[in-house]
Amino acid sequence: MLRKLPHPMNFWTSTFFSVLDPLLCKVCGKCVELCPVNAIKTKNGGIMKTPPDVCIGCGLCVEACPFKARYLERRKKDMVPPKTFDDLYNTIMENKKGPLGKLGVAVKMMLRV
Ligand code: SF4
Ligand code: SF4
Repeated sequence: MLRKLPHPMNFWTSTFFSVLDPLLCKVCGKCVELCPVNAIKTKNGGIMKTPPDVCIGCGLCVEACPFKARYLERRKKDMVPPKTFDDLYNTIMENKKGPLGKLGVAVKMMLRV
């Protein structure tokens, strides 16, 4: 289920994300198999750059890489966890693309009144 979320960082709070050193990577595929959110993809026989908005910074790939080709880097902005479920809901809806996301936030605000 986690692997199907398009934006896992809406649900996690991590100040780090995984970075690949392409010079050290031997494309063994271990990190691709392990990543719980499917943030690591292959293309043309190589490993693609890990998108920071998908990587949840768990560090599994860093620990598992036999060639030390991965490391965790600090995000430019520290992540702060939402204080309430309402805050979490709003973040998720605001990050949804298109009119449905905006409509969700508007409906929620109306229901609060
Ligand atoms: S585990 Fe390390 S060497 Fe293997 S594909 Fe991932 S980054 Fe490359
Ligand atoms: S740190 Fe975790 S979420 Fe990020 S790429 Fe590595 S295994 Fe995937």
